Amino acid sequence: MKFSGPFEYVPPTKTASDYNESEKAEFVKIFRPRARDYRCLKALFFGLCIAFFIATIIFKIDDVFELWFTLMAIYVVLYYTLFKPLCPACNKNTDTRVRTFCPECGSGKISPGGFMRSIECLSCGEVLRQGKGGRRYNVRYCTHCGVFLDSKGI
Ligand SMILES: [Zn+2]
Ligand SMILES: [Zn+2]
Repeated sequence: MKFSGPFEYVPPTKTASDYNESEKAEFVKIFRPRARDYRCLKALFFGLCIAFFIATIIFKIDDVFELWFTLMAIYVVLYYTLFKPLCPACNKNTDTRVRTFCPECGSGKISPGGFMRSIECLSCGEVLRQGKGGRRYNVRYCTHCGVFLDSKGI
C-alpha cells in the first residue's frame, strides 16, 4: 500500500469530461462571486500597499519592517480563510501551481517544466511562468480538473 501523507497531491477523480453541460454552467455560476472576491482582495491589498508606502514616507516611519510584516500576515490569513478561489467542481484551490490542465485553455497537454524551464502548454502555447512576483498567466480553467471557471480569468 502506498502511503499518502497530508501534503501529497491527489488529483480529483472526476475531470471536465465527466461533467455535463448544465453541471459545467453551474460551476461557472458558483465560481463568479469567488473570482470577484479574489479580485477585490487583490485590489484592496494593492491599494493598502500603496497607502502604506506613502504613509511611511510622509510620517517618516523608520521601523517599516514590522508594519509590512503585519500587512502581509493579514493578507495571508484573509486569503486562506475567506478568499481562496476554490474550484466548484473539485474543491481545490485554483490559484496554485500548474497541475494537470492548462489554466489558460483547459488542455491537458502540458510539457512539464524543469530546472530553469517553465511549464508550457502544448495546446495554446502559453508559457505558464510562475515567478517571485506571482504567476504571469490567468486562471480560466481549473488546473486540477480542467473545468471552465471564468472567461476573464483570475
Ligand atoms: Zn477543479
Ligand atoms: Zn493552454
